[in-house]
Amino acid sequence: MNTSNPETETAAAPSPESRPSNFLRDAVLEDLKTNKFGGRVQTRFPPEPNGYLHIGHAKAICLDFGLAAEFGGHTNLRFDDTNPEKEETEYVDSIMQDVKWLGFEWSGLFYASDYFDQLYAWAVQLIKAGKAYVDDLSADQIRKYRGTLTEPGKDSPFRNRSIEENLDLFERMRAGEFPDGARVLRAKIDMASPNFNLRDPVMYRILHADHHRTGSKWCIYPLYDFAHGQSDSIEKVTHSMCTLEFEDHRPLYNWFIKELGIFPSQQYEFDRLNLTYTLLSKRKLLQLVRDGRVNGWDDPRMPTLSGLRRRGYTPEAIRNFCGAVGVSKTTGSIELAMLEHFVREDLNKRAPRAMAVLRPLKVVIDNYPEIQTEEMEAVNNPEDPSAGTRKVPFSRVLYIEQDDFREIPPPKYFRLSPGREVRLRYGYFVTCKSVVKDAKGEVIEVHCTYDPATRGGNNPPDGRKVKSTIHWVSAAHAVDAEVRLYENLFTKEDPNHTEEGQDFTVNLNPNSLEVLACCKVEPSLASPAPGSRYQFERLGYFCVDHDSAPGKPVFNRTVALKDTWAKVEKKTEKNK
Ligand code: ATP
Ligand code: MG
Repeated sequence: MNTSNPETETAAAPSPESRPSNFLRDAVLEDLKTNKFGGRVQTRFPPEPNGYLHIGHAKAICLDFGLAAEFGGHTNLRFDDTNPEKEETEYVDSIMQDVKWLGFEWSGLFYASDYFDQLYAWAVQLIKAGKAYVDDLSADQIRKYRGTLTEPGKDSPFRNRSIEENLDLFERMRAGEFPDGARVLRAKIDMASPNFNLRDPVMYRILHADHHRTGSKWCIYPLYDFAHGQSDSIEKVTHSMCTLEFEDHRPLYNWFIKELGIFPSQQYEFDRLNLTYTLLSKRKLLQLVRDGRVNGWDDPRMPTLSGLRRRGYTPEAIRNFCGAVGVSKTTGSIELAMLEHFVREDLNKRAPRAMAVLRPLKVVIDNYPEIQTEEMEAVNNPEDPSAGTRKVPFSRVLYIEQDDFREIPPPKYFRLSPGREVRLRYGYFVTCKSVVKDAKGEVIEVHCTYDPATRGGNNPPDGRKVKSTIHWVSAAHAVDAEVRLYENLFTKEDPNHTEEGQDFTVNLNPNSLEVLACCKVEPSLASPAPGSRYQFERLGYFCVDHDSAPGKPVFNRTVALKDTWAKVEKKTEKNK
């Protein structure tokens, strides 16, 4: 598979037998058995275009598209665009790009705003049936009249307007005769219902705002509850899956469908994805973007699909993660480490290996001929023999990681130190003989000798062993690169958890981005294609950022390899 152009990857539906079942799948199977919808499975993914999609949406997308595909059904992409003030074409475009990137193809592309005329006609139908009325109470009054969990609501004084008066007022609401908030249209259901959503919910509000698609045609807009189920019904959606917070809305969803006598779409609820150290709310992510706390929606620290893509996540890794997370009827929290596990697992299989030095320390091999360069053979991917090998130049002056040398090695430190021999991967065994220090006493150059009998990094004939293998790049051939390292965006497992009066931004991690401007990478990485992914030996997985210029690549670290040493070292540092 082509790692540099993920846009072309599509998701194949696994066969029905290979999938573990869940309550959503069981519901579909049951409906197929009873032939409820004539053997049809039609789903939809209904994002509101008020932000970029995040990993939580990926879970919904995988369910909506995955379940339909499994049974030969179809999935529409429908923009739920009933809040003109928050919605923008930029978001519509990004959502389409992200759904495609994730590997899914929609059957129909729709907008709730396509249905505004039909929804208006249905509102009139309900008024005529005595099931809806225009209310003059303010939003505040409506809230007060709604009652509490223990007390029933009170009827609005406008609840029993005549049908004629309601028709006239609703028509005039549409004609723009009244200011924002002056009146609403409400469904006439039951002010004493134990379910708040049935206490005469608002169907339409007045809002003199331009809409990204319908412009100034409308100054009244339907609310979610009056738009969603009917949109499903128009599209003959059989299984409408949404998150658990809409469970209490289901009776209303069904009420509108029944009263209007339209196609009986059915709503099912599943748990929202929550991830530790992560916020999955477009509103809050928008706040981070607007306030410049991150560098845009596709900042690699963002949990958005565009951020994860830029970070180096593959669609497969995200789909596999969503599959493993599954669905349930209770909301919990998933470890961020689980998401990272899936990207490691996928990239391990597909990412070519390369050598890069993030914090360079110069090594001079005193007994290596000054003018010589050798081409060392390096394996591109030990997990994939078909990936072949490449040549990496080796010469007298090299760079290694500062971390791979200690003048005074701590206990259990097996890498390079004075008198110690280590293996340079694909290179030679080298032994540290001396160091050069600057005026401050910092080691700036390490001098070694090499053993010609260990060419390729192989063990010498005398059977001598070393305890450590380190990576390197040849100084004369190295390409300068910028590398961006990321930590969790938030320091708290639950970033919403704050002291009274504080906002979630207090939990932002001040060290979430570290830019290393003077890295050295092997020459094969001089001008890699943006979006291509590599494993830098011993350092992790990295993805080429679109900020790269020819000869000046920029890499984002997707995820580190598990580095047990770093953990030990951090702990001992803390204990000092
Ligand atoms: P947000 O609070 O981030 O804006 P939302 O639910 O308002 O989320 P929508 O654009 O309305 O976002 O969502 C489109 C679909 O994605 C809905 O079916 C919604 O239930 C689902 N969805 C949104 N967030 C999650 C999540 N964290 N986990 C699973 N599904 C989600
Ligand atoms: Mg929403």
